[in-house]
Amino acid sequence: MSTLIDGKALSLSLKEQMRDRIVELEAKYGRKPCLAVIIVGDNPASRSYVRGKIKAAEFTGMDSRLVELPEDVSQDGLLDVIAGLNAEAAVDGILVQLPLPKHIDEDKVIDSIAIEKDVDGFHPQNVANLWLGRKCIVPCTPKGIITMIESTGVDIQGKKAVVIGRSNIVGKPVAKLLLDRNATVTIAHSRTKDLAKVAAEADILVAAVGRPKMVTADMVKPGAVVIDVGINRISVPGPDGEPVNKLVGDVDFDAASQVAGYITPVPGGVGPMTITMLMENTIECFLNRQ
Ligand code: NDP
Repeated sequence: MSTLIDGKALSLSLKEQMRDRIVELEAKYGRKPCLAVIIVGDNPASRSYVRGKIKAAEFTGMDSRLVELPEDVSQDGLLDVIAGLNAEAAVDGILVQLPLPKHIDEDKVIDSIAIEKDVDGFHPQNVANLWLGRKCIVPCTPKGIITMIESTGVDIQGKKAVVIGRSNIVGKPVAKLLLDRNATVTIAHSRTKDLAKVAAEADILVAAVGRPKMVTADMVKPGAVVIDVGINRISVPGPDGEPVNKLVGDVDFDAASQVAGYITPVPGGVGPMTITMLMENTIECFLNRQ
């Protein structure tokens, strides 16, 4: 039986430390860090993520601002809002909740955020700095994953790490962060041959795919650290037989937890840590701007 990496508990303790830090920062600099979150439209999942981010900001005591724009806002309209926040001295971090409606070019939006306020770390300059090994804002989910792995006390150096998924927001940056910590990293994806064999060699296995329970117990090396990034909504029979929605990860938790050394749950794993790292990044942007 594996040890649970409790993202919720770890997040809470980090946010409590940040609360004290923000009191100190306000005393020293005369203002608190401020995060601005922009949401376009009414996507329920996006609304729920944004609520979580604002709630976390309130918990830490930092200032926050929610900018809600209608689904049919024009691209120029959104870019104007971002330009306004870029220019505002009191705003330290700007996050545009993705995905955006089809008529808006996400790349243009990401490129328009002032680099020093890019709390998500998605700006091309930030991405370049990450890959060049220069100082940068590290994207929140990968940063949270590394923090969780490090919380186990397992030394990443020299370990075989397999990352399943090669997205710009999770797979690629987490692979780079593991490489920076001297793991030997394999990035697997939809064209990888014999994924089960590749995964089963991993001392550290990160699943960032978006396919419910695709990582089965036979894909997990005994004692491995397993990080489940996936957030999948599936329908299961409820107590009265009616279908109810359930959140599951990319890992078959019940089976994999019999084999892994450490494993993250879904929910309560990478999700809360992503939000907590956003708070850390906001503080970092604030400090960089002082
Ligand atoms: P993307 O859809 O951008 O990327 C998915 C990756 O999985 C792709 O690289 C794809 O390969 C790969 N893939 C798809 N099918 C297979 C397969 N059968 N075998 C191996 N690899 C496969 O997803 P994201 O990275 O944005 O997100 C991944 C998951 O993580 C989602 O469930 C998302 O909701 C969740 N997520 C959770 C966050 C959190 O805070 N907890 C934050 C961000 C995401 P290819 O490139 O070849 O197509």
